[in-house]
Amino acid sequence: MNKKKIIIANWKMKLSFAESISLAKQYTELLNEGNAGDNDVVACVSTMALSSISEIFRSSFVKLGGQDVFWEEKGSYTGEISAPILEELGCSYVIVGHSERRQYLLENYQMIHQKVKSVLSTSQITPIVCIGENLKERDPDKRDYVITDQLQQALGGIKLLPKQEIIVAYEPVWEIGTGQAIQPDDAATMHKIINVALIDLLGIDVTKHQIRVVYGGSVTGENSSDFTKLDHVDGLLIGGASLKAEEFAKIVASN
Ligand code: PEP
Repeated sequence: MNKKKIIIANWKMKLSFAESISLAKQYTELLNEGNAGDNDVVACVSTMALSSISEIFRSSFVKLGGQDVFWEEKGSYTGEISAPILEELGCSYVIVGHSERRQYLLENYQMIHQKVKSVLSTSQITPIVCIGENLKERDPDKRDYVITDQLQQALGGIKLLPKQEIIVAYEPVWEIGTGQAIQPDDAATMHKIINVALIDLLGIDVTKHQIRVVYGGSVTGENSSDFTKLDHVDGLLIGGASLKAEEFAKIVASN
């Protein structure tokens, strides 16, 4: 079954407030329903720019996403932001457990599980749950186990209501930001393994209708369709190339 593709931009902490506003405006100029095919398009921007960009995207079909979320709704959690607050700021999506947070902030899959649960139970936001092996886990025997284990920890026991969705982002951590994406054959193998693991965990109906699995890691205008044409690849998560509006628009238009 071919699912509607979703193309997700992750601006990380690469832009100032003014730069974020300017890029958001370029997105609205370059991306419209006429040239975006049938794709869903999401921009995950810095927290400080969410409210302003929500206004900019109001008349656009580009959806707004956060880059992180906390698992409690409210309380003494300095510096954190909850799913209901993200929703109030206009978010429809949020990235959960990006590898940079796993690496620099020691976020683990127990935390990621709590975040996914909280997003689904306290808001209408769709979580974008990141998985992916690091360089030490790259060996094919280890890699398959690592990915299945991450999915189990993140999503085990999660029950989706009929209208809810989860996006799983498979990102081989050792390829992120390197400019060198993995071989499409390798991505095809991993996405097949992920599909089987998801069916085991959540059942075939939920996997078919309520989960989309995207690939991320050094996707560019040149290589994006090598990935989106693969079975079980329902879209892309894009860092570096999403900071150039024209390249991002080209990726959206060509997939
Ligand atoms: C990412 O940050 O999730 C990512 C895929 O980055 P890049 O496209 O720059 O590798």
